[in-house]
Amino acid sequence: MKITMAHGSGGDSTSKLISGVFSKHFSNKYLDKLGDSAVVPGASRLAMTTDSFVVNPIFFPGGDIGRLSVCGTVNDLLMSGAVPKYLTAGFVLEEGLDTEDLEKIVESLQKTAEEAGVQVVTGDTKVVEKGAIGGLIINTAGVGFVPEGIDLGPEKIKTGDRIIVSGYLGDHHVAILGSRLGIENDIVSDAAPLGEMTRALMEAGLGIRAMRDVTRGGLGTVLNEFAESSGKEIRVEESFIPVSPTVKDFCGILGLDVLYMGNEGKMIVVVSPEDADSALEIMRSSKYGENAVGIGEVMEDSDSPALVLRTEIGGLRTVGPLYGEGLPRIC
Ligand code: MG
Repeated sequence: MKITMAHGSGGDSTSKLISGVFSKHFSNKYLDKLGDSAVVPGASRLAMTTDSFVVNPIFFPGGDIGRLSVCGTVNDLLMSGAVPKYLTAGFVLEEGLDTEDLEKIVESLQKTAEEAGVQVVTGDTKVVEKGAIGGLIINTAGVGFVPEGIDLGPEKIKTGDRIIVSGYLGDHHVAILGSRLGIENDIVSDAAPLGEMTRALMEAGLGIRAMRDVTRGGLGTVLNEFAESSGKEIRVEESFIPVSPTVKDFCGILGLDVLYMGNEGKMIVVVSPEDADSALEIMRSSKYGENAVGIGEVMEDSDSPALVLRTEIGGLRTVGPLYGEGLPRIC
């Protein structure tokens, strides 16, 4: 069956689409009431985030827009030390979209939500004319509970802190770009919910100062933001930055800088020097962190806080954030 404008009418066809595709897969006690809003139990401190997913193509090596929607949203909650609980999912569908494809995406979203321990508690469906968006767009909101005593942020970063990255960089970016250009390689998107890793870090009571998922803009942009917020220089050993050989080759051929490539299942952790080894060990033994590695440290306060790379031949090079466009519709 194809999506028609009638599926966005709010009438009978919309109800059939909701019961036949969305409620069927997302079913839970909050969503099943199909109220104007979901009423859910709360906590004293909430983390909230919102995100829109416009990735093109909607199916790509290693994932699809449904998995991406959950990963992008829960990872943003996790980075503030929150335990993700609820998601909303608003679907903007293009007329002519195959409902089989839609159902695959809904199933994938639900499966990833289960992995991440969140429930989709409310949603929305709209239909737009053929050719308007290239398939579908998903908008989410995420709510998480922040445990007492958790207070993370780049302003907490101190001189001497260590910088750890949770694994190989650039995989998602290369998976999207490769499938758009029709380049065959074995790279799959790293899209993954990072809750197991962040929960283990939080429960170990380590001196974690800040965490951030390395999405659009890449490592270079995230570490520039950390330098700016902390007022310190951040120094990274270029040769320690983890990149798989295939991604390195792909970047070399296309003239791409892995420092600015997007990821959907990687994070940066800034941790006190005395807890750096423990944090690394925890990350390496968690599901999506086996290639975690320490890449640098936080230097003194600086009048011009920046990310500085020590190059493979021993020189120092200041690296700015990503300027300009980057790759559109990567997430
Ligand atoms: Mg983020």
